[in-house]
Amino acid sequence: MTRSNDEPPAGAMPSNFIKEIIREDLETGRFGGKVVTRFPPEPNGYLHIGHAKSICLNFGLAQEFGGRCHLRMDDTNPETESMEYVRAIQEDVRWLGFDWGDRVFFASDYFEQLHDWAVELIKKGKAYVDDLSPEEIRRYRGTLTEPGRESPCRSRSVEENLDLFARMRAGEFPDGSRVLRAKIDMAAGNLNLRDPVMYRIKRATHYRTGDRWCIYPTYDWAHGQSDSIEGITHSICTLEFEDHRPLYDWFLDQLGVHHPRQIEFARLRLTYTVMSKRKLTELVEGGHVRGWDDPRMPTIAGLRRRGYTPEAIRDFCARIGVAKKEGTVDVALLEHCLRDDLNRRAERRMAVLRPLRVVIENYPEGRTEELEAVNNPEDPSAGIRRVPFSRVLYIERDDFMEDPPRKFFRLAPGREVRLRYAYFIRCTDVVKDDHGQVVELRCTYDPATLGGNAPDGRKVRATLHWVSAPHALPAEVRLYDRLFAHPTPDTARDDFKNHLNPESLTVLNDCMIEPSLAGARPGDRFQFERTGYFCVDPDSSDGKLVFNRAVTLRDTWARIQKRQAG
Ligand code: ATP
Ligand code: MG
Repeated sequence: MTRSNDEPPAGAMPSNFIKEIIREDLETGRFGGKVVTRFPPEPNGYLHIGHAKSICLNFGLAQEFGGRCHLRMDDTNPETESMEYVRAIQEDVRWLGFDWGDRVFFASDYFEQLHDWAVELIKKGKAYVDDLSPEEIRRYRGTLTEPGRESPCRSRSVEENLDLFARMRAGEFPDGSRVLRAKIDMAAGNLNLRDPVMYRIKRATHYRTGDRWCIYPTYDWAHGQSDSIEGITHSICTLEFEDHRPLYDWFLDQLGVHHPRQIEFARLRLTYTVMSKRKLTELVEGGHVRGWDDPRMPTIAGLRRRGYTPEAIRDFCARIGVAKKEGTVDVALLEHCLRDDLNRRAERRMAVLRPLRVVIENYPEGRTEELEAVNNPEDPSAGIRRVPFSRVLYIERDDFMEDPPRKFFRLAPGREVRLRYAYFIRCTDVVKDDHGQVVELRCTYDPATLGGNAPDGRKVRATLHWVSAPHALPAEVRLYDRLFAHPTPDTARDDFKNHLNPESLTVLNDCMIEPSLAGARPGDRFQFERTGYFCVDPDSSDGKLVFNRAVTLRDTWARIQKRQAG
């Protein structure tokens, strides 16, 4: 394949309509040839894979066009925001591979400026204090088919509005008793223009400004002006803000300040999960998961703990691209991206998840051989390691059947199979306990088959992984399945929590892993041969490693694509 010159660098997002718009603005010199984007999370929860899309997009555009990208905490709601979330957001953006340099900003730092601008609008007769209750404001607002009604307070004089707004700020009125509203048009077709609320009275301690304020700006009043203050050129947001754009335009035009260009794109939705922070908070607070970083969560922290790499997430974001049309992405694509990355990079190890004891009767007692194993067939530079082999081994319980059906080619009484990197073994006897459970297999090995082939050319149909019993380390392995049993829990008629998958977590306590894993650290990732990709969990202790299954080896996405192509 040849690469054309204007193809973006590897890992960059393929071209899309937003890039086209920016190129056009650069050509016409609209913003003096500058590109300044921002990622503006509200610190009221952890970031999720949908945010990753926005992060890759905003930071990616800045990188590609030689601009810069700000990280801004959109922190205008004191009740739900916290420093814990700010820290988690910063950690996650950094981990994803993006750098905001010294350009981390807080909307709460703009409170004074926003207040002054509000006073300016009042002076221009473009904002007024309203005494209607929130409920009345809602009723007066009208509907899509009916115009709204003007509040009796709408005709207040500038002087009275200035006085009342100052007293709102000074804390003279109870919470919720008054608001400041923009004076636009109660009959506007766009409901966002029907005199939207700019300030509400709320006695709540803000995690940064403390009790300095008892009035807080609404998102609609804060957001566009924050972008303007920072000199953002391209203010990229999700589609639901398309209808707010005329309002943001109105505010900026009234103030006569720098006016970014807002561009909307479709938010990411993913099958078998939920993405709204409200719902994710509900899962955490209700104890349905073990925390924001539970490996079943679609949060960046959860994905990281699960074993996802930043590269896999960035690749996913590049592949889904950006569009104007909403759609739901199959989670199998995300899994495919991880598999693709780990297949290239993760070292292989042998681990037996559900051990069955095997005694090789003709192998000398007390003898140990160190057999050579390849660390990564995709990467010769990963080298080899030595794996001990001895008379007593563990194999996977599923790899044996006493009474095998036709298509089962693995171990069975009288049958011969290959042990990876070792010998052919043949099952000669089955040992059972009092309940008839198979507890041990007696086998023989053929010394001439070392390395995996028989000199006489006889074939076996299966290769099994194994570990040497006296050398094995015990481990706990956590197998994860989808968090929800419903492909789109958001669309369910009843509570989304009714669709949690009761089998989303299976804990295996008696796994046996090869001794070379002894030094593995939390966050290290491996392919356990034949069972999947795994990541060491921070719950690991010196005596017992804990692994999370990041993803299985079977690739349902590849299957989906094949089916679509065929
Ligand atoms: P939520 O509905 O989960 O609370 P939000 O949009 O309120 O999401 P913010 O913290 O305000 O959360 O989001 C920060 C940025 O991330 C915004 O610019 C928003 O457009 C973007 N974003 C949020 N969710 C998604 C998503 N699913 N796909 C793409 N971008 C998203
Ligand atoms: Mg938001």
